[in-house]
Amino acid sequence: MPPTAIRELLRTLPKVEDLLHASCIEALAGRVPRPLIVEAVRAAVDQARAAILEGARTQVDTQGIERDACSRALALGRPSLRRVINASGVIIHTNLGRSALAPAAVQAACDVARGYSTLEYDTSTLARGSRHDHCERLICALTGAEAAVAVNNNAAAVMLVLSEFAAGHEAVVSRGELVEIGGSFRVPDIMALSHAQMVEVGTTNKTHVADYARAIQADTSMLLKVHPSNYRMIGFTESVDVRELRRLADAENERRHAGTGVAPAGAPDELLVYEDQGSGVLVHLATLGEHAEPTVADSVARGCDLVSFSGDKLLGGPQAGIVVGAKRHIDRLKANPLARALRLDKMTLAALEATLRLYLDGERAASEVPTLRMLVEPAETVRLRAEKLVEALTAALPPQCAALSLVEEVGRAGGGALPMCDIPTWAVRVEFLRGDALSCERYLVSEREVPVVGRIKRDALLLDARTVLEGEGDEIARAVASYFEEGLA
Ligand SMILES: *Cc1c(COP(=O)(O)O)cnc(C)c1O
Repeated sequence: MPPTAIRELLRTLPKVEDLLHASCIEALAGRVPRPLIVEAVRAAVDQARAAILEGARTQVDTQGIERDACSRALALGRPSLRRVINASGVIIHTNLGRSALAPAAVQAACDVARGYSTLEYDTSTLARGSRHDHCERLICALTGAEAAVAVNNNAAAVMLVLSEFAAGHEAVVSRGELVEIGGSFRVPDIMALSHAQMVEVGTTNKTHVADYARAIQADTSMLLKVHPSNYRMIGFTESVDVRELRRLADAENERRHAGTGVAPAGAPDELLVYEDQGSGVLVHLATLGEHAEPTVADSVARGCDLVSFSGDKLLGGPQAGIVVGAKRHIDRLKANPLARALRLDKMTLAALEATLRLYLDGERAASEVPTLRMLVEPAETVRLRAEKLVEALTAALPPQCAALSLVEEVGRAGGGALPMCDIPTWAVRVEFLRGDALSCERYLVSEREVPVVGRIKRDALLLDARTVLEGEGDEIARAVASYFEEGLA
């Protein structure tokens, strides 16, 4: 379109003021707060203007703009961050908030949120306390470490460790562990950001002890090991055990402390072994068999100076990043200005402390921490829940709409944890006699106050019972029933 025609078209766009008096917009009053209606109308007009400028529109569709404004206003009117029912079978679903919290953790977070708390108040000395104290002893008891500190997430923990100990110095890492972990966490990038000088050793598939040994210089600050998360190499591969890195570091530290050789000015006086463990397993999950991963305690016992892990992956707590290690190292981390910027808030600390307390009794943790329970729950128990869901659906659905069956499926831990571990699970398969799986999926996610997330397989909707929480079965049944009652209308 010629520029003059575009200008002409832009002139005919309805004014925000006028649209606010359109009958369908005025009908929103009382249902949606006025500032959000104005915001929605503005966004709808902006969108129409952008479409004209791009040449995508040759006419102004005022009614279309009104409808757009209306649905935007309704969407803005309801909470954006809200509960979701996870029937996907992916346990640590990063898009759905990773881990559901244990009831005790929810209660603890609510209690400190509602009023004042002992966040930085020491009740034995009646003086200022430290927020670091609430979880430290618990983490030490559970991991065998001497000291611990918790920050905003594991990415922050890695950043903090590298900044404190490796900034301006060399840090040695295997080429097989230079991974990207979902959501733009890339090991080389985070090393550059923290001013660590990355020294890559080995090859993509194989790294030997000798590769690390050759790379160690007077200025080497750490041997870094990164858990490859959801990335696995199969076949001709080799990586170096933490115990061997420990031996290398011990030998090097002996040399440094004997004062032989000339250390450059400002060179680190200790070579550290640091493992970014990622998912943070606190208990041995025997039911996972060969897929069971070393616990944080294992990494500490094998000789890591520092280990970091997430609070909301296999640990099943709130979003957090935890670093454990010797007190002299952890004290330095606590004193780093970054620790202040990355610190946890009171609600997260309360939830983390309550979750850790459940772990003091392994059986209690396995039954009360939802992530852990979902991981270890026997398939037969999941099947019983799936059967209940079939019953609820049968009772709720209008006749002749869908055919329901129980199917055996394979679930995933998710969150980059245990990627090779197939978790046997049971799902309800909904075959559509009216409507179809895709439009039902869209309805369940986009149109519901509490979205229901399942998955599509061969033109059917699968609702996996492993990740469905207590009481959610009836909600799922009502949601699917309303797809046939109003979603199809
Ligand atoms: C998940 C993960 C991270 C990032 O942890 P967040 O808690 O998501 O910040 C870092 N390193 C490894 C090995 C991980 O698995």
